[in-house]
Amino acid sequence: MRALTVEPGIPNSARLDEVPEPPVTDGAILAKTLALGVCGTDREIIAGLYGNAPPGDSRLILGHESLGRVMEAPRDSGFSPGDLIVGVVRRPDPVPCSACAVGAWDMCRNGRYTERGIKERHGYGADCFRVEPEFAIKVDPGLGMLGVLLEPTSILAKAWDHIERIGARARGWKPKTLLVTGAGPIGLLAALLGAQRGFEVHVLDRRLAGEKGKLIQALGGLAHKGDPTSIDGMHFDVVIECTGAPPIICDTLSRAAPSGIVCLTGVTAPGHDCQLDVGALNRSWVLDNETIFGTVNANCRHYEAAAAALAQANKAWLAQIITRRVPAERWAEALEHRSDDIKTVIEFNPDRPS
Ligand code: BGC
Repeated sequence: MRALTVEPGIPNSARLDEVPEPPVTDGAILAKTLALGVCGTDREIIAGLYGNAPPGDSRLILGHESLGRVMEAPRDSGFSPGDLIVGVVRRPDPVPCSACAVGAWDMCRNGRYTERGIKERHGYGADCFRVEPEFAIKVDPGLGMLGVLLEPTSILAKAWDHIERIGARARGWKPKTLLVTGAGPIGLLAALLGAQRGFEVHVLDRRLAGEKGKLIQALGGLAHKGDPTSIDGMHFDVVIECTGAPPIICDTLSRAAPSGIVCLTGVTAPGHDCQLDVGALNRSWVLDNETIFGTVNANCRHYEAAAAALAQANKAWLAQIITRRVPAERWAEALEHRSDDIKTVIEFNPDRPS
């Protein structure tokens, strides 16, 4: 079968390879891959900056934003041939730590977790994949190809879960305003989940290219274009930082209203210095009971919450997030940055209308 593979640590070593069918040890469900979402993590792996092949292998099959159609599943697994599924990215560490032991691998405490398509486990970027039933999530059939948005949505479902848990420490806290920085797929999905919760949604984006402004307005949100000076003087109950850009991250640190929460979702490279008035920042974090926290990955509860959020979302709106679909044989085009891009997906075996 065809698989998109890379030699981690070696820049631009990605290629479409012929590899053996996935081993049964990958899981009892066999699925035909329909689509694979491309994100910043994949680009980092392809640039040689991140990722590890499974022990004993030099190459890693890429892909962690999956969508597949079940071809084979054990009768008692809860899955049947024809179901649309998404595979969970992370697997618990083998110790396991106290978090992984209870299924909260997204909060792994010793860093020995593995991740499909990222860290020491082959990904979903091949003509077919196998997955364990307990790490497969059923997608609403009405979503079709839009189901490929489930994994990125799970990241935001976790972010919101934690925002709500942190917020619950302040009795009587009734957050109303949300700032999302960055109108990429993660930012737009953060805004969608905020709108579903009834927030007044603000999205700050450097360029607001393509349809981004319209997508934000369609959520009832306000789009702010340019650098953070365009929202000078504004503070928000919840801030979700989705750019991973150091100057924007610095700005968000002083954007929370009293009892506000700043949630950081972008993975950044080290080596960017920012001038910060730590005294002023700390004074407001302390005197106003603010929280700044980071979040990564998601566990099954978050995938289920994300599946519910997508099932409830406007399909036409979601469809506009996927701005480009590239066939697997032209995978390299999926990595190009085009000005109107939001989410690009690589299609492996897309369903064709009969
Ligand atoms: C994935 C997460 C993963 C993280 C770090 C992200 O792109 O969506 O599931 O934990 O990268 O590897």
